Amino acid sequence: MPVQLLRDVEEEVTRILRDLIRIDTTNPPGNETAAAKYIAENLSRDGFECVLRESAPGRGNVMTRLAGSGEKSSLLLLSHLDVVAANPDEWSVNPFGGVVKDGFVWGRGTLDMKGMTAIELMALKLLKRNNVKLKGDVVLAATADEEQGGVAGAGWLLENFPREILADYVLNEGGGLAISAGNKNVFTVNTAEKGLLWLRVKARGVPGHGSTPNVADNAITRMSRVIERLGDYRSPVVLVPTVKQFLGNMAKEDAALREPFSRLLAHPDEADVILDELAKTKKLLAEELRPRIRMTIAPTMICGGVKENVIPSECEAVFDCRVLPGQTVADALALIKGLLEGVGLDKLTFEVLHSNEPSESAVETPLYETISSVLREFELGCGVTPVLMTGGTDSRFFRAKGSICYGFQPMRPETPKQSAIVKREHGIDERISIENLVFGTSVLYETVKRFMS
Ligand SMILES: [Zn+2]
Repeated sequence: MPVQLLRDVEEEVTRILRDLIRIDTTNPPGNETAAAKYIAENLSRDGFECVLRESAPGRGNVMTRLAGSGEKSSLLLLSHLDVVAANPDEWSVNPFGGVVKDGFVWGRGTLDMKGMTAIELMALKLLKRNNVKLKGDVVLAATADEEQGGVAGAGWLLENFPREILADYVLNEGGGLAISAGNKNVFTVNTAEKGLLWLRVKARGVPGHGSTPNVADNAITRMSRVIERLGDYRSPVVLVPTVKQFLGNMAKEDAALREPFSRLLAHPDEADVILDELAKTKKLLAEELRPRIRMTIAPTMICGGVKENVIPSECEAVFDCRVLPGQTVADALALIKGLLEGVGLDKLTFEVLHSNEPSESAVETPLYETISSVLREFELGCGVTPVLMTGGTDSRFFRAKGSICYGFQPMRPETPKQSAIVKREHGIDERISIENLVFGTSVLYETVKRFMS
C-alpha cells in the first residue's frame, strides 16, 4: 500500500502541541514536571504506563515503553520538554498561549522541540492503536534541561536509570528539515555534532605605573597576543564522514553545487578559496559550511585592568572552541597551548569552564536506509543527506553510550527560504505549520513501523 499523509491525526496532534505550549517550561528554571505529567496522563488514556522521574523538584522526565518481541534492536523516541525564554513584548502572539493562526501553531517550543514531542507521542499511540507487531521495544522519553546542557535531563537519566532509557537507536532533534536544492527538497538527518571547549585563559604580568610602562610587564599586552594568535588561527580543513556525504549528496542533487562541491571533496586544502567563490552567489550556504570543515576558536569575553594609570598584572579572556568529530577536547587544548608557546606559557593559566566531546553516528545503518526510503515514498524524487550540527543536543549522551543517534524531525520548508524557519528556533514568533505536524507524524510513524516490524 502506498504511504499516505495521516490527515485524521491533525486535530489530535495539534491539540497535544497546543497543550504543551501552554505549559511554560522556560529553562531556567524548567518546571518540566507539569509537562511530563500531561504526557503521562495523555498516554494513560491509550493504556500506556509511564514512569515519571525528577532529577530535582520540578525537573520532571517522563518515559514509557511499547514492548516488542525482542527479535530486533530497540528504538528510543527522544525529545526535551524545556524551552528557552520568550519575551512576550517582542512577539505578535502570546508565546505561551498555544495560538492557532494562519495554519500554524504559534509559541515558544513549537519548533524546538515540543512539536517533535507531539509527533513522537502521536506516532507511539498510533503504533498501539493499530496493533503494529513490533520486533523490538519502542521507548519514548521526554526529558528536562536540554537547553541548559541536559545534565538534569537525558544525561541524568542515562547515569541513573540506563536500563529504562538506553536503546540501540535514537531519534531526536537537530535534523529533518528539508533544504531546497534546485527545485527539489533534500531532507536532512543530523548524524553528527561538534564538541565544545569553553576555556578561560589568564595572563599574568608585573604591575606598575601607567607613566612608566617600561618597568612593568603588562598582562593586557600579553593577552592581546593570545587573542590574536587564537582568534586568527585557522585549523587545517578536515572533512568528517558526515560532511563528505553531505557535499557528495548536494553535488548530485543541485547542479549549481556540482562543480564547487566536487572540487572541495577532491581538494579540501583549497576549501577557503572555493567557499569564498561560492559566497558570491550562495552566501548563506558558504558561511554555514565554513565551521563544519574545521575546528574553530572564537574569543568571546575579556576582562582586565583596574584603573586608568595602573598597568595590570592580570587579564583574562574566554574562548569558545568547537571541535570536529574525530578530534577530542584534549586535542584542542593541547593545540591551543602549542599555539601560545611564543607568548610565554609560564605566564598563562588555563581553566576549562565546560566541555563536551563531539559525536558522530554512522550513516550506513538500516535505520538511515528506512528513513531514506520512507521519505522518497512520501515525496518522489526528494534527496536525503546527513548533516553535521555546529551546536550540541542530547544526542551526544547516547552516542557516547554506543547508540546510533539521528536528529530527525521530518519537515518540509514552510517558506521559500528555509533559513527563515531555522531563525525562529529560539527566536521571535516561533511556529510550526499544521501541515508539517501531519507530515512529521506520517513520516515518523511509517519509519518506526517499518523499521521495527
Ligand atoms: Zn532543542
